[in-house]
Amino acid sequence: MPIGEEQHNESATGMLRGRSIIGFGRGKGNGVAFHAFDPQTGQACEPAFTSANAEEIDHAIELAATAAPKWARASGTTRAEFLRAIASRLETIAARLIERAHLETALPMARLKGELARTCDQLRLFADVVQEGSWVMGRIDRGDPKRTPTPKPDIRSMLRPLGPVVVFGASNFPLAFSVAGGDSASAWASGNPVIVKAHPAHPGTSELVGRAISESVHSCGLAEGLFSLLFDGGVTVGQTLVEHPLVKGVGFTGSYAGGRTLMDLAASRLEPIPVFAEMGSVNPVFILPGALEARGEHIVSGLYESFTLGGGQFCTKPGLVFLPEGRASEKLMRSLEALVSAAAPFSLLTTGIRTAFVRAREDRRRCADLRTVIAELNDWSHNSLQVGATLMETDVTTFLSRSELSEEMFGPSTLLVTHSDKAQLIEVASMLKGHLTATVHGTEQDFQEFFELIQTLETKVGRLIFNGYPTGVEVCHAMVHGGPYPATSDGRSTSVGTQSIFRFSRPVCFQDCPHQLLPAELRDENPLGICRMVDGAMTREGIAESR
Ligand code: NAP
Repeated sequence: MPIGEEQHNESATGMLRGRSIIGFGRGKGNGVAFHAFDPQTGQACEPAFTSANAEEIDHAIELAATAAPKWARASGTTRAEFLRAIASRLETIAARLIERAHLETALPMARLKGELARTCDQLRLFADVVQEGSWVMGRIDRGDPKRTPTPKPDIRSMLRPLGPVVVFGASNFPLAFSVAGGDSASAWASGNPVIVKAHPAHPGTSELVGRAISESVHSCGLAEGLFSLLFDGGVTVGQTLVEHPLVKGVGFTGSYAGGRTLMDLAASRLEPIPVFAEMGSVNPVFILPGALEARGEHIVSGLYESFTLGGGQFCTKPGLVFLPEGRASEKLMRSLEALVSAAAPFSLLTTGIRTAFVRAREDRRRCADLRTVIAELNDWSHNSLQVGATLMETDVTTFLSRSELSEEMFGPSTLLVTHSDKAQLIEVASMLKGHLTATVHGTEQDFQEFFELIQTLETKVGRLIFNGYPTGVEVCHAMVHGGPYPATSDGRSTSVGTQSIFRFSRPVCFQDCPHQLLPAELRDENPLGICRMVDGAMTREGIAESR
């Protein structure tokens, strides 16, 4: 092998090597070195990781391109076995994995345990979906040679994979949106090889997960190009991957700046490719008058928990709250202020995230018509990534005059905006950009009275929540974790839930195709027993009469 030596069953040792995983081999380790940092102490974590070089990037992509045709034809059962094998291996290294993830992110152990369970459940959910098989949306329009004036051709279509997919691990979910997270799981499930660009904030966690995947590829007897994991302390590897002609799709979770750069790179290629980027979202919450009067105090505690959960580092954090001006709102704001003032400091994931949070907060504090309350940092240390919870208050007029107030602040903060009447609320809602979610707190009467608001919000977001909170995204079949641009690069997609499988597939149509050449999913007898549309009607029945 040109790169590295064969590596199997490394997980048992738990020792990190700090080198990219390229198929069954390892990177040479001669690239630029970087370290993860312990957010609690600011100390570098061992070992050093080395960035993949140009030769290693090429090799990973070539392996993926070689593996692609066979994986595209692999049965749902084979794909399901692979996804379940990854889940089982991750569970066997759970203790080591959670320990390392805690070191690199400072996220609480309980949260990481839950995130690992979510990751494994997600892999198994996709396994169930591909084993059942109907997700390919098989459609058959039988031909009619006797039709006049022209015979009708036999037309059959289904979803097929794109080819090698590049996935960027997210900083804020080191497991569930990272190396074996939803993007990778959905890309494998739909028949694509995956090359992951590890997030530099948790490379050790990424390596442990990467080994478990590589070993699963091997133990399932699959082609090594099904998975590679590339490290980089900067942006070169990610950009090279997106520009490579053999790469056919991209999944990304992170900042607007990063996502937009990758979208533009992908669009400017000789052959443009789709980028499914989940970027910033402020997730507006609307507290309607009836709900404010009836349960304002209850809403305060739920809201506080939601915008500080995980240090406010969730893409679904409610960062903007609209409420009617008046006595009840004043009471709610003072209760929230009391909670924020008494809050213990929150540790952020990276220096970059902390710097962006503090800078955004300082910018907002310079705004004369905006009031800011920040929790004290009693145990302030220059090495730590801690910040105090932050509450900001203003009115709609100020909000509309300062565009930065509608931007994401990633961290434990929210902005309360009071409005004078329903017309002003509808106006501000209609001016919102695309978001992942919007939440409405209301009574039955509020919902009748503010139906126009709800109709407006439906055009702005991927998920509408009633009398709840946007954090906590269920992984299920109906979930939509997406939204119009700029929340995502493609508002027709979701990055959570089983519908995310559609991102890395495309419809292919077979016209008058000899029966023996058709994929099993489209054959007359329906050997897989999947649900298909035959001549416009959904059925699991085979077609009795062959052409
Ligand atoms: P990020 O800076 O967008 O980085 C995410 C990944 O993309 C990293 O692997 C990063 O590599 C890579 N990347 C970023 N810019 C790139 C570029 N121009 N070209 C190629 N690759 C690029 O996100 P982050 O580090 O996770 O956090 C930074 C900010 O992103 C946060 O403050 C927050 O605003 C936002 N964020 C949003 C979400 C969300 O769910 N919407 C989640 C996490 C973060 P390098 O790190 O090596 O540059």
